[in-house]
Parts: sequence; C-alpha cells; structure tokens
Amino acid sequence: MSANDFLSGGFAAAPESSDHFEIKKSYDLFIDGKWVKAPKQFETINPATDEVISRVGFAGKKEVNQAVKGARKAYDNLWSKMPPAERGKYLFRIARLIQERAREFAVVESMDGGKPIRESRDVDVPLAAAHFFYHAGWADKLKYAFPGAEVSSIGVVGQVIPWNFPLLMAAWKIAPALACGNTVVLKPAETTPLTALKLAELIQDAGLPPGVVNIVTGAGDTGQALIEHPDVDKVAFTGSTAVGKAIRRSVAGTGKRFTLELGGKAANIVFEDAPINEAVEGIVNGIFFNQGHVCCAGSRLFVQESIADKVIKKLKKRIESLVVGNPLDKNTDIGAINSGEQLARIKNLVKVGKDEGACMWQPSGGVPRKGNWFKPTLFTECAQSHRIVQEEIFGPVLAIQTFRTPQEAIAKANNTPYGLSGGVWTDKGSKIFKMTTGLNAGVVWANTFNKFDPTSPFGGYKESGIGREGGLHGLSAYCQVSY
Ligand code: NAP
Ligand code: MG
Repeated sequence: MSANDFLSGGFAAAPESSDHFEIKKSYDLFIDGKWVKAPKQFETINPATDEVISRVGFAGKKEVNQAVKGARKAYDNLWSKMPPAERGKYLFRIARLIQERAREFAVVESMDGGKPIRESRDVDVPLAAAHFFYHAGWADKLKYAFPGAEVSSIGVVGQVIPWNFPLLMAAWKIAPALACGNTVVLKPAETTPLTALKLAELIQDAGLPPGVVNIVTGAGDTGQALIEHPDVDKVAFTGSTAVGKAIRRSVAGTGKRFTLELGGKAANIVFEDAPINEAVEGIVNGIFFNQGHVCCAGSRLFVQESIADKVIKKLKKRIESLVVGNPLDKNTDIGAINSGEQLARIKNLVKVGKDEGACMWQPSGGVPRKGNWFKPTLFTECAQSHRIVQEEIFGPVLAIQTFRTPQEAIAKANNTPYGLSGGVWTDKGSKIFKMTTGLNAGVVWANTFNKFDPTSPFGGYKESGIGREGGLHGLSAYCQVSY
C-alpha cells in the first residue's frame, strides 16, 4: 500500500519516511540484559495497512519466571544498593537517548499502533522522555520528596500496559520504578510491542546493568503469569476495568502492593458563557485524540441547553474538516483503529446506540479501503441509561447530552461507574471551582483537555482504578515511605 492509497483530505500527501531506521524481522525477549528466544512467536501488524511489520516472542510462564529471576538478582545485588545519584544518571541517559531517537520512536509507534504521526511526534515521545527526566531528578532526592520519612525501595515490580500509548505507558511505569531503586519486568500489549522492544535496545545502549529492566512480550496469559508470580513485590497495571478487577482478586491476600489505572467515561461540560470556538476545539481534542483510544477521553459531552444547537452545528462543521487516513501523513488528524478486535467492539456499541434510539451523525468523507478505520461519530438524543453513555467505547464516538444547571451537569457527569477525568468550559472562575470539586474524577481540566505533565498525578476513582501515576503521589507508589 502506498501513501497515495490513503485519503488526504484535499491536502498534498506529506508522509513521514520510515527508511531511516531498522525494524528487525523478528524480536526475542529482553531478559537479564540478553535477547532470549521464546518458544513461539506472533506477528505484529500495521493496523492502517494490514501488513505484518515484525514477529515478536511470546513469553510463557518459564520465560516470565526467568525474567523475574533476572530482576530479583539485579535488585538484590546491584540496583537497590547503587548510590541513588548513579541511578539518576542512567535515567538521564535514557531520557536523552529517547530525545535523540525521537523520530524513529514516533514513526514506529504510528506504524505499530495506527496513531497519527503528529501525536506520536508531539505528544507520546516527548512526554516519554519527560517522564524519564522528571524521575531522574528525584532519584537522589527521595528524602526531600517525603520530608521526615524513611524512604526505601520495594523490590521487583511486574508491570502490564495497554496498546493506546505503548511507549508512554512504558515510560510512566519504568521511570518511577527505577528512580526509587526497584527493578522491573514489563509486559507490553499484544498489538503494540515494538516501541517497548526498541526501548529495550536503547536501554542496552544506555549501559543499564543486566536485569534492571526486562521486557517480555506476549498476550494476556503472559501478563497473568507476571502478576501472579510469587516473587513480584508490586504490580502496576494499566488496562481495562475487567482485567483490573481480576488482578485485584489475584493479588488479594498476597501482600503485594498494587496500582490499577483503568477505564473511563469522562464528561466534558460546556457552559453558555464558555469561549465557544475554543470549546469546540477542546471537544474535538477530547474525543478524537488518538482515535478516542484514550482512558481519559471526553467521550460524553454535556452542553448547556441554551447553546446546544450552536455548539453541535459548529462541531459538525469542524469534524467535516478532520483528515482521517494515513497515520504517517503529517496532515492526518485521525489515524487507524488499533486492531480488528477493537474496531468490532466500536461497531457493536455504535449499533447498540442506534438500536437504543440515539441519533447518529458522521461526516461525509470516506475512509481508506485497507486497514481498520472508523469515522468520527456523534450521537445526540442520548439518555443517561443508554449503553453508549455508560460504557467505555474507546473509539472516536461522542455521546452528547444537554443540561440546564451546574447541579444537573454534576449529577449526570457523576452517574457512571467510572471516575477518571472530566473537563469544564466556562468564563467564570467560581464555576470552575464549583464544578471541579463536584466532579468525582481524578483529573479535571478547565478550558482545556488531555493535557499531561509528569509532575502531575494521574489516576481514577471508582472503577477507574486505585493509585496515582506521576508527581509525588506516583512516586510514593514505588517506595516504602515510613514515618
Ligand atoms: P486490557 O485488555 O485490560 O489489556 C491491558 C494489558 O493487560 C495488555 O497488555 C493485556 O495483554 C494484558 N492482559 C490481558 N488479560 C490479562 C490478565 N488476565 N492478566 C494480566 N494481564 C492481562 O486493556 P486494553 O484493551 O489493552 O486497553 C484498553 C483499556 O486500558 C481501556 O479500558 C482504557 O481505559 C485503559 N487505560 C487506562 C489508562 C489509565 O491510566 N487509567 C491508560 C490507558 C488505558 P494483551 O494485549 O495481550 O491482551
Ligand atoms: Mg501492531
């Protein structure tokens, strides 16, 4: 498939090249500083073209055990004993190497996962480097992070991550763990293993001692073997609420520490006094960023009744101009859906939305022939009880409702099993305070959406999870803090 097979929304194609680096035909597992052959392999494909990019190892229980042993040895003999400033130097080196190889990481991320190159280039990769920089700085300052406390490491951490931000989630997990003196075994998602494997190569280049970071690719079983391994001291999981619940059951009574970052169904609330054009951009960014494969996506829009018609009209006009197509094209706004499985799930919930009586709208443009695609989609006439209002779709689908008063907006916004994020658009500061304290969500943005920073803790309430990542709260999840 060539760049010309994609639609480019009337713009001349501007594809980022993919010939300036190597993707190997196959990758082994990264265990104890060496590349170890797995008993079997699986293919990772490009969801925009259906082409096989590479084959990667499938780690079974034996390989997971080997990785945990490597991490334990590195923890006991070396990493937990190393002067913290030395640990920090490794993290700084990894951060700088990510910056140096940013273009390569961005292209591989977009090829393996389907996200637009503008996002992997401007968000995923710089933020991944920022997480290493931030935590590198903490490595030798932990006693100042928690004044008056004794701070020590935990041990071996088992980490399982999803496919929506593969490199960024790896950075969110590995950087704080290492800064606090722990060693890790990381299991990337099945459909997006490549940037984690590239990160393993980079970690080797950085000279990190063997066993400090181990990367085992595979499927759900691999993740389960890691989480259940008796020599893992802490479990860090990002993924669906269903798997998060199973993990919580499996760690119960084991004494393992755990953090769970799970699903969401965020309310993005627009008041009549909001700057409307900016709010429309925020709504678009909130739900169509990364094809809506975002745990904190603003997937429910609440518009104050007096401006609903105007906002929806402007929103439709804006969506007509979004370019859906080649993830490697710099004009692209919406890339490919990450997998056939995810596309089927989105299609199913959209059908449920129509069957339950909500009114669907999609823009007039087409989508490419090959690969997994879904047009940006709006639903109006939604009721609180509709499944598309209650369940996480994890795709470019927005459910729109109206409200009259702030109290009504808060009541409706909080009426889901989730509590991860939210957004408020208004000109009035006092309304921002009222809404943000009323919303039962871990992160609430005001007059912006989807803004991330390593210094700011991220995490949810209710079925969106337990624990925080980023900032001091995230740091405390990776150490023993005793007063
Ligand atoms: P998922 O199915 O729960 O998978 C997440 C990871 O867990 C993958 O690596 C998966 O492996 C692995 N896994 C599957 N079954 C497992 C088991 N029984 N034990 C241990 N590991 C297991 O979620 P997903 O579909 O990849 O990701 C989307 C979900 O992640 C959404 O619900 C989204 O909201 C959530 N998410 C949350 C945050 C947050 O910070 N709160 C951030 C990003 C995403 P395979 O890939 O092989 O299945
Ligand atoms: Mg893939």
